[in-house]
Amino acid sequence: MLSTMQDVPLTVTRILTHGTQVHGTSRITTWTGEGEPQRRSFAEAGARAAQLAHALHTELGVRDGDRVATLMWNNAEHVEAYYAAPAMGAVLHTLNLRLPVDQLVWIVGHAADRVVIVNGSLLPLLAPLLSRMPSIEHVVVSGPGDRAVLEADPAPGGRRPQVHDYEELIGGRPTSYDWPELDERQAAAMCYTSGTTGDPKGVVYSHRSIYLHSMQANSAESMALTDRDTTLVIVPQFHVNAWGLPHATFMSGVNMLMPDRFLQPKPLAEMIDAERPTHAAAVPSIWQGLLAELAERPRDISCLNQVTVGGSACPPALMVAFDKLGVTVRHAWGMTETSPLGTIACPPAHAIGTDEEFAYRVTQGRFPAGVEARLTGPNGERLPWDGTSAGELEVRGPWIAAAYYGGVDGEPMRPADKFSEDGWLKTGDVGTISPDGYLTLTDRVKDVIKSGGEWISSLELENALMAHPDIAEAAVVAVPDEKWGERPLATVVFKDGVTVDFADLRAFLADRVAKWQLPERWVCTTVVPKTSVGKFDKKVIRRQYADGTLDVTRL
Ligand code: ADP
Repeated sequence: MLSTMQDVPLTVTRILTHGTQVHGTSRITTWTGEGEPQRRSFAEAGARAAQLAHALHTELGVRDGDRVATLMWNNAEHVEAYYAAPAMGAVLHTLNLRLPVDQLVWIVGHAADRVVIVNGSLLPLLAPLLSRMPSIEHVVVSGPGDRAVLEADPAPGGRRPQVHDYEELIGGRPTSYDWPELDERQAAAMCYTSGTTGDPKGVVYSHRSIYLHSMQANSAESMALTDRDTTLVIVPQFHVNAWGLPHATFMSGVNMLMPDRFLQPKPLAEMIDAERPTHAAAVPSIWQGLLAELAERPRDISCLNQVTVGGSACPPALMVAFDKLGVTVRHAWGMTETSPLGTIACPPAHAIGTDEEFAYRVTQGRFPAGVEARLTGPNGERLPWDGTSAGELEVRGPWIAAAYYGGVDGEPMRPADKFSEDGWLKTGDVGTISPDGYLTLTDRVKDVIKSGGEWISSLELENALMAHPDIAEAAVVAVPDEKWGERPLATVVFKDGVTVDFADLRAFLADRVAKWQLPERWVCTTVVPKTSVGKFDKKVIRRQYADGTLDVTRL
């Protein structure tokens, strides 16, 4: 028997029309680096999104399913593109501006982007690549930046795309649009994985997946934001839709504070001080930088009730540091393939105020109803949720990818190492799940250290090292070892002006992890190499070790 309920499609369009109408006075504030920030209401941004859609349709000929790329920082214009392209039936493709340029060129070609909207400040990055991006017909430039770099001659035989100024292009056009009725399963946006452990792969989000994910992001179990909040969106809009914030905010009227290109610790501290956001979202490496800045030039950041930390494991020491500043950290886990909210660490009611509370908070968090999880052991066996059996995490749900984009004429790709035969996403993350559904990750399948038949968690060693008062950052990778197969190599970055004897660090670790896990190989460095989205780039460290370019001390 079928239900008697209405079957109304869940679309990005609906989020847009709701946000502009019901929450029309909520604001997007974009940091400009000097003088007053740019302030725009949701109603204004919605009207400009309609103007942009008219321009894309009438002037640039964008049609259903065409890819509209963005190469932009977090700002109001990027939010306008977030709504204009999907709501008119096109597909928003956010480009990661920190990727190696060859990957960027490959991704644009693979997605066959027709239009790219680019921030003027990023033209020096884009201009020299355009002759290698034949699918791009139009470049729309937004914000300050020297347009002259686009005048250079194209490569021999190369075509020059048409260049438009964003404001001139949308100016004078109607501020409402007769948005088409869309199928909720159709593509709304796409994002390629940042390739921490392999080649970039395209994930295509549907209108429905974005709608449902936004509801989850807004739930009390997740970020629980309302129109009384202002969220500082540090996590880039080019990285998994800024963890869903630009959509979740329009659903419930949450004000957005956008840092644009000012992502260094000093301006971030300034904008928190000046604009008093109540929430912020970023990867741990950003927070490490901000805390160092605050240690040097203290500022009051107590306006932040809550910060969401994810993308890589939140070191417990970071959580403690924030606790001391009166800011609650909510640790979350996710991936490009999971939209990204997979888990979030709100402690259960019975643990609040007890000794158990912190232990729950440092886990990757609890699964919401929309994400089903299971653990698979090395031989394909299902492992119990007992908090100790560690296996690869597999997930499924309405905002989890079922395949990767196969290119214009290609079939969707379902590589066997990423999707199980029965359609679950294999995350490549190894961990345990407690009986009450809290995930604790111990490693990535590709990073775990396989030493003499036992697994050593690189994450556990890193967290233990980063609890040392003189260590700013620590990364641990597996290196080949004749006797044990693999052993851990620890690379540490000391805080300014300090050095500690490696033997002392080993002794410090010995109090925290099993003796057979203690690294013999140690490297002191000035910075841990990072990927395009600020995660430790362990591929690079392993390569440096193999090439013999690291100054290794053996204990
Ligand atoms: P990439 O795989 O290219 O780095 P993603 O941003 O999709 O791109 O990364 C997802 C991965 O990041 C996860 O599979 C996991 O390994 C890691 N990750 C994300 N959040 C956390 C977290 N809270 N703790 C540990 N690892 C995390």
